[in-house]
Amino acid sequence: MSTPEWLESWSPDEGARRVRTLFAASFDGAEPDGVWSAPGRVNLIGEHTDYNGGLALPTALPHRTFVALRGRQDDVVRLASAQAPGERWTVRLADVAPGAVSGWGAYVAGVAWALRAAGHDVRGFDAVVDSCVPFGAGLSSSAALECAVAVALDDVHGLSLAADDAGRAALAAAAVRAENEIAGAPTGGMDQAASLRSSAGHAVLLDCRPGLTPLESATPVPFDPAAADLTLLVVDTRAEHALVDGQYAQRRATCERAAELLGVVTLREVPADGLEGALDRLAEHDDDGVLRRRVRHVVTEIARTRELADLVSAGRVADVGPLMDASHDSLRDDYEVSARELDLVVDTARAAGALGARMTGGGFGGSAIALVRRGAVDDVVAAVQRAFDDVGLRAPGFLLAPPSHAAGRTA
Ligand code: ADP
Ligand code: MG
Repeated sequence: MSTPEWLESWSPDEGARRVRTLFAASFDGAEPDGVWSAPGRVNLIGEHTDYNGGLALPTALPHRTFVALRGRQDDVVRLASAQAPGERWTVRLADVAPGAVSGWGAYVAGVAWALRAAGHDVRGFDAVVDSCVPFGAGLSSSAALECAVAVALDDVHGLSLAADDAGRAALAAAAVRAENEIAGAPTGGMDQAASLRSSAGHAVLLDCRPGLTPLESATPVPFDPAAADLTLLVVDTRAEHALVDGQYAQRRATCERAAELLGVVTLREVPADGLEGALDRLAEHDDDGVLRRRVRHVVTEIARTRELADLVSAGRVADVGPLMDASHDSLRDDYEVSARELDLVVDTARAAGALGARMTGGGFGGSAIALVRRGAVDDVVAAVQRAFDDVGLRAPGFLLAPPSHAAGRTA
């Protein structure tokens, strides 16, 4: 069996060194105004709940995307990425609009576009990026990219939004608009809130009910697995991640239809103890049972998220395994967004001694997480590696995910 591949995070110095070098190489030896970075995220629980007005509980990864940026006086944006070698991406901000730009630079230029749309005087810039957040692994490299750019532009233009949580919520909103409207990826707001509003040693409980103020919508929740001698292990399955290909939109549309039939704005309004009644009311519109299974996932997942947040706040991290397991089973059976590779990680990790395991992110590939006793990490990793090997799957990547700090200036 091959040795497991660990996806290590970079220190701030290493990230800064990399983007400074790339900046000089890309822009004739020039110095950037500074270096900023933003983390990817991993969601502990609360999947496919954000667009249902529900709860999610992400934490920031130690893995970050680094940006070196220098402001310009005109409205030209010039970009390079270590993850897109040889490709210089250029656009004028005046030409950025929904449907008008494509490629990875859309995530970056989209942030500037959204800040301008919110009334901020944002001009062009030269920037380079480098990242240790795995791409397309359900760990939000896209939000890490947007949020690193958002804090960089905030700083360079003296907007001071990153200085407090309400301002960070505004930056997150700009990043969401960039992703939805300019990059064209229909996602909820969890990823950007996690990247901008987390703090080290905490998860952030996101409440996506419509109409909440920014401060009501995110609450830090102490989350310290190490204190309980536990580790959050992330496994990047490297399976296809086809969220954008219609499945996500389909799930969203189904939830909207259910809400309409039930006469509520979002499924959040269906309380856990009202679930059976709601399912009865949906029965006549639901010959194959799909609508009811989707609703059951959303309502029970929101309840599990609240319960898990309460447990970790009380320092009972070791007791959350069954909630993680139930979340996975619900996503696999009721919401039908798991994948063979995710199920294999989850089943193998549980059998090898994990306290709980589940897929994380939107599904159809991407990553799974397992809560593991520190002394058992190597056993769980070896078991997963072997299980993938045995059925001829491409080797997965492994990450450790102590809850880390939010986006900000690095150097
Ligand atoms: P995830 O957010 O789960 O990693 P997404 O499909 O949402 O997956 O986002 C991945 C996309 O984001 C990439 O295909 C690329 O367009 C863009 N991206 C993210 N990080 C970078 C980077 N460092 N350099 C260039 N593009 C990036
Ligand atoms: Mg993404």
